[in-house]
Amino acid sequence: MRTTSNVAAFVMMTNRCSMNCSYCFEGTVFRKNPKDMSLETANKTSDFLLNAAKRTPDCDKVSYTYFGGEPLLNWNTVRDNISYNKKLEEDSNIKFGMSILTNAYKLPDDTEEFFRVVRDNNIDVQVSLDGCKESHDACRGHFDEIVENIKMIVKNTGRLAAVRMTVTPENCGYIYESFKTMIELSNKVATTLIVEGDWTAEAIEKLREGCRKTINLYNNKYSKRSVVFSIVRSINRGCVTLCSAGDSFVGISADGDVYPCHRFITYDNPEEWKMGSVFDGPVAKKDLSYCLEKCESCDCTVCTPCPSAFLSVKEQGPPEGYCNACKAIEEVCRPISERIFLKNQMDAQNNVLKNLSELNVRMAQCMIKKES
Ligand code: SF4
Ligand code: SF4
Ligand code: SF4
Repeated sequence: MRTTSNVAAFVMMTNRCSMNCSYCFEGTVFRKNPKDMSLETANKTSDFLLNAAKRTPDCDKVSYTYFGGEPLLNWNTVRDNISYNKKLEEDSNIKFGMSILTNAYKLPDDTEEFFRVVRDNNIDVQVSLDGCKESHDACRGHFDEIVENIKMIVKNTGRLAAVRMTVTPENCGYIYESFKTMIELSNKVATTLIVEGDWTAEAIEKLREGCRKTINLYNNKYSKRSVVFSIVRSINRGCVTLCSAGDSFVGISADGDVYPCHRFITYDNPEEWKMGSVFDGPVAKKDLSYCLEKCESCDCTVCTPCPSAFLSVKEQGPPEGYCNACKAIEEVCRPISERIFLKNQMDAQNNVLKNLSELNVRMAQCMIKKES
C-alpha cells in the first residue's frame, strides 16, 4: 500500500462545462448553479496550499490542478493564477506543479496565448478521451474535434502529460481499439475503471478479453519504447496507491470552500463534507480511511480505491462488482506485466555489463599504449 505525500488540490475553476457526458457525476448538481472561480479566490487558494505545504514536514511541492467542469472556460483566471503561482515560487522554496485537466473540446479563443502559457510555465495538460471514436462518442461526444485539439496541443506545446480513458461496462468492449487510438496521440495512456458501473459477469468477461488483447499488443509493440500504460505501471509498482483525500489532497470549490476532494463538492449534502474555506486558513483533516479498510489487506494493484465513489454508491467500501472487475484485469495483465518488467531489468543489467566490458577494453588499450 502506498500513499502520496505532496500537498495537492483539484481546484474547480468553473462548474460550467462545454460537454454533457452521460456518466458525469457533476452535471445534475452544477447545471442548476453555474459558477466561475474569481481570480481572487484562485490566488487565495494558492496561498492556502502554499501555507499548508510550509507546515508539512519535508514537503517542497504543491500540485495545483485546474479542474472543472471545463477549466478552459475560465481561461483568463487560469492564466493569471499561473503567473501568481510562479511569483509565489520565486519567493519561497516550494515549487508549484501545475496541470490542466481538460476535455479539450474547445481551446481558448487565443490559442497562441494558451500554447505559450502552457509551454513557458511547464504546465501538464491531461485530456479525458474515452478511447476510439465509437467508445468515446458513446458517453462523451465530439471525438473528431477533441483529437484535432490534442494534436494541436502536442505540436505547439509538447506538454501532453496523458490521455485518460474512463472505462465503463458500456465501453469496456472497446478497450483494445481504444488503446490503439490513444497510443497514437500520447505516449502516456491512463485508464480508470468507473466504480459506479454495473459490473456484471458479462461486462467483466468483455473487459477481460479486451485487456488480454491490449496487454499483448503493448508487450509486442510498445513495451520497449518509452510508452507508459497505467495498468502495467500499477502492477509493476507492486502495491495499490491509496488516495489521501481529506489529508494532503483536497478539492476546492469555485467559492473557495475546501472538501476532502473535488467529488464531494457535487454531493447532495456538500455542507456535511465541507472542511473549511481557503479564506479562513488551515482546516482540520477529514478521515476517510474507514472506506479503505478492505483495500488495505487486498493484494490487487490495478485499482484506484476511491472513497468518494464508494460513498456515492452508498457503500462504505468497494462494491463487489468493481472489485471483481479490477481483479479480472490484474489476473489477465499481471503475468505479462511481470515478464515485461523482468525483461527490462535484464536488458538494463546487460547494458551495464556491456558498458563495463567496453570500458575494460578501452582501459586495457590505454595501458598497452603506455607500456609500448
Ligand atoms: S467533460 Fe467532465 S465535467 Fe464536463 S460533462 Fe464530461 S465528465 Fe462532466
Ligand atoms: S480490488 Fe477491491 S478491495 Fe481490492 S484494492 Fe481494489 S477496491 Fe480495494
Ligand atoms: S476520493 Fe476518489 S476521486 Fe477523490 S482523490 Fe480519492 S481516489 Fe480521487
